Amino acid sequence: MKIRIKNNFKNFDYDYLVGTNILAELLDKVAKDYFSVIIVTDSNIDSLYLGKKFDNYSKIVIAPGEESKSFESLNKLLGEFSKIGLKRNCLVVAIGGGVIGDLAGFAASIYMRGVDYWQVPTTLVAMVDSSIGGKTGINTEFGKNLIGSFYPPKKIVVDLNFAQKLPKSEVKNGLAEMYKHCLIENYNHLNNLISNPLSEKSVISSAKVKIKIIEKDPLEKNIRKYLNIGHTVGHAIEKESKLQIPHGMAVAIGIKIESKIAKKLGILNDQNYNKIISDLALLNLDFDYKIENLDKFVKLMASDKKNMSQKICFALVSTPGKKIVIVDLEPENVVKILSEI
Ligand code: ADP
Ligand code: ZN
Repeated sequence: MKIRIKNNFKNFDYDYLVGTNILAELLDKVAKDYFSVIIVTDSNIDSLYLGKKFDNYSKIVIAPGEESKSFESLNKLLGEFSKIGLKRNCLVVAIGGGVIGDLAGFAASIYMRGVDYWQVPTTLVAMVDSSIGGKTGINTEFGKNLIGSFYPPKKIVVDLNFAQKLPKSEVKNGLAEMYKHCLIENYNHLNNLISNPLSEKSVISSAKVKIKIIEKDPLEKNIRKYLNIGHTVGHAIEKESKLQIPHGMAVAIGIKIESKIAKKLGILNDQNYNKIISDLALLNLDFDYKIENLDKFVKLMASDKKNMSQKICFALVSTPGKKIVIVDLEPENVVKILSEI
């Protein structure tokens, strides 16, 4: 007897759709294929955009904020799924930023061993980054996104109508990730980004960079690591500031500090370093940050679950838009470099 196990990660075909006011029609169309459609969203998005819209579907409203990526919220959400009578042949539609996408996606991945779901990202970060690639999960007291699954959605629907009332801070968060994508591949896209990050053109070209990477490396074995540009330092900044510094700002500072590290290591030349610093200024993403305690800061970086050993993994820019280098550095070495730059 032979048992064939299908490799889910080869079965990665799904659409990424972008447009304005496209969600309602897409949902109407797909609803007949499912027993029922259940929307999961947060209370901000519900009051700003949904209200009485989509009243023909069930709706579960979660409190906004990172705290909702918890076991308690997951438990509640799974309870709501049961109460509503969610079956295998139902569709969960996650309408929200990274928090809703991660929480509802994870719930969909484990409820009845997996039900179909759509990602409808409403923040810029989620549109170009977190909704793409099938990562779902929650935080625990031991770490961010520590519990989760790789579970691709059936569709990603980017409805730019949701971008109309985005707070400025959320646009900045998105911009930092979009700039990161420019550094990985399409550096010539920078001008679009400076003129209008919320345009269809900007969103599509940024998302394309991530899509290309996750298609080649869904499980983060090699080039998906490029997406960590600015994040090794950025995550430590978020932790050191006790999440007072928002993700995008931490990533922007991370890009700056990691560029200094790359320059020190001879990976990035002076001219390209200066380019990156002036790009950050043009994008209004040039912030200063003073590391409070260098030893503790490096320990925070070393504790990141992405590191495969005691060493700290960095994705460093060598040539913007052309060449990224992955380096693993000993923590003592990182302390030394950071104290000299
Ligand atoms: P991300 O992790 O994608 O930055 P979150 O899910 O934490 O996003 O959302 C950040 C905040 O922005 C939350 O308070 C959320 O309710 C709010 N929000 C999400 N989408 C929108 C939108 N389209 N317009 C206004 N506020 C939004
Ligand atoms: Zn990020």
